[in-house]
Order: sequence, then structure tokens, then C-alpha cells
Amino acid sequence: MESWQKILQNSLTEPTAIAARFGIDPAPLLTVAERYPMRINPYYLGLIQTMGDPIWKQAVPDEQELQDQVCHVDPLNEENQSPIPNLVHRYPDRVLFMISSTCAMYCRFCTRKRKVGCANMAINAESIDAGIDYIREHREIRDVILSGGDPLLRSDASLDNILSRLRAIPHLEIIRIGSRIPVVLPQRITPSLVRVLKRYHPLYINTHFNHPDEITPQSAKACARLANAGIPLGNQTVLMRGVNDNPLVMRRLMQRLLMIRVRPYYIYQADQVQGTDHFRTSVEEGLEIMRALRGYTSGMAVPTYVIDAPGGGGKIPLLPDYLQQLGSDVVLKNYLGDVYHYTNAEPAKPAEQLEWQQVVGS
Ligand SMILES: *Cc1c(COP(=O)(O)O)cnc(C)c1O
Ligand code: SF4
Repeated sequence: MESWQKILQNSLTEPTAIAARFGIDPAPLLTVAERYPMRINPYYLGLIQTMGDPIWKQAVPDEQELQDQVCHVDPLNEENQSPIPNLVHRYPDRVLFMISSTCAMYCRFCTRKRKVGCANMAINAESIDAGIDYIREHREIRDVILSGGDPLLRSDASLDNILSRLRAIPHLEIIRIGSRIPVVLPQRITPSLVRVLKRYHPLYINTHFNHPDEITPQSAKACARLANAGIPLGNQTVLMRGVNDNPLVMRRLMQRLLMIRVRPYYIYQADQVQGTDHFRTSVEEGLEIMRALRGYTSGMAVPTYVIDAPGGGGKIPLLPDYLQQLGSDVVLKNYLGDVYHYTNAEPAKPAEQLEWQQVVGS
């Protein structure tokens, strides 16, 4: 089998190469790729069936990236919620820690398009040391999400080093890795990588499949190796125009994820990231997709639909209006739209609520 390094080396990084292959004019794409890097490795390239299909749209630069007048460079305010570069501390008990600036494919819709794959994303031994120090010094952090870029593009030895230093921090309960490698370069999930990862349980991996055509024998094998090592796998999907903005496509994706032992975790409403406006759908369309999942297929196949609040407010769940009315008579609507009544219980006495109110600080 070809090594993952070799596959990566043979990536197309210039629009001229993709234009020549598909017989299109490269000129409009050259300026796009100067601003936002392009990398399409031969494996992911091979998933494209026709020009403009959902795989193509995720990988090939598009003129519309430069015509976006609506969105912002850093809509989630990550830079201002970073106590040190490349670590975002937004929530009380967990942090997002970026340990890689590169990816096996540069997704056109990337939320960190402003810096991923660019020289201004300075990740090096010092920034990684600083991140580990920060987590060690903040005892409230019980969960770290390794992100980037793609953490699994680091070498086995480097990941071993980072994970072992994190595991040595007593208050850190769980380690999560966010990676699109199982989707875009599944050959990277080698037995030796898995041997490293399985030493640092409880370790979770959240991957990022957006379309059923991304589930291939190779990606299934990569996920099987991870699952066999006891690593629970989740998936985050971004809802995108022309890629998966269709209830039947989304349902098939969620069902096929379960077949490769990946549990759907989130569907994200597209962030307002500069250069990605052409991918955004309305929230109504997202709710329609959620309505088409719940009840119609396994509950295991139904993720949470969220908007990452602009300005850095965190993820906010969105649900079709199943709950019609609260109070003594709770009025509910099921997945078919039929109305049901539930006679409510009395709320707990204030004394009984006290402990939880102290926890949430209200
Ligand atoms: C998404 C995210 C997390 C993790 O959120 P969960 O809901 O716990 O998965 C943590 N920090 C930041 C900055 C995030 O964007
Ligand atoms: S793999 Fe993730 S970080 Fe990298 S370009 Fe794609 S979405 Fe962005």
C-alpha cells in the first residue's frame, strides 16, 4: 500500500493542475488559491465523480470565495478568547488547543480559513509547550480538544509526546482529537498511529464527514482501526449549500456513519466565515433536515443541530418546535405533527433546587 506521506506529497496545490485535469480555465482560480491555500491529495481527488459535485465543491477553489461581501474573518471571536496564541478558552471546563497548522486537504468552507495552511498560523514547539503549561496551570480544565489544522498530520512520535504530557496532568479527565483525516486521508490511520493513541484513554475522536460519498472502503477501514482500539468516534457535519442541504442526503450520511461505528454528534449551521458565504443555507432548511431525521430513522443517527454563536457565545442547539407549550399542561408535537398532552408535575421546592442553583450560579 502507498504510504500516506507519499499520497500527501502528490497533492495538487495549484489550480493549473486541477484545471488541466478537468479542462477548465485556471485563471479565475489562481487569485483564489493565492489568498486561501489549495491542497487536494490524490485520494480525495479520486472521490470526485463529476465537476461541481459535492466532493468537488469542498475541495476546489471557487471564484465566489473572493466575492463574499457578507461574512467576517473571525466570526466566532476566537482570537479574542485566546489567552495564549492557538488555544481558545471559551467554556468553563474545556479548551480548544490547536497543535497543527496544516491539513491533508484544504476545505473551501473551513471556519479557520483566515489562518489554516497560512504562514500567520504559527504553531511550533514553543506554542505547544505554552498550551500544555496553560492547561496544567488551570485546574478547572477537565477536557481538551486537540484541533488545528489537523492534529493527526503530526508524526506518531510528536503526537506521543504531546499526549503523554497532557495525560500527566492530573485534573485533565478526557482528551479529544478533532480530525478530518479519516475522511480526507484515511491511509494516515496506520496500526502504529493507533498503537500510540490507545495508550492515552479516555481518548475520543471527532471526525468530519459531510457527504455519503466520503464513506469509502478506505475510510471505513480507518474508522474500524480506531474503534477497535476502543476510541469512541463522533462526527461533526457542516450544513452546506450544494453539498448536503438535502434531507435524504443527510439521512443517508447519518445512517452510513453508524455502519462504520461513527456516532453523529453535531450538524453545524455554517459559520459566517469570510470566503464561505456561497455555502451557507438558511436556518429554516437546517430545521427541516432535523425534522426529517427524528422519528424517521434511528435516534442514534440524529445529531444535535447547532449554531456557533457569532461573537464567541458558544454552540447553541436548535430544535424544530416539538415543545409547543409549557405549564401544567405540556403540549407536544411528535415527528408526524400529531399533538399530545403531558400532565406536568409540580416543580421542586426552592430548598431542593438550591444546590443546583449554586452550581449554575443563578
Ligand atoms: C466546539 C468547541 C468546544 C467543544 O464544545 P462541546 O460542545 O463540548 O463539544 C470547546 N471550545 C471551543 C472554543 C469550541 O469551539
Ligand atoms: S481539515 Fe478542518 S481545519 Fe483543515 S481545512 Fe478542512 S475544515 Fe479546516
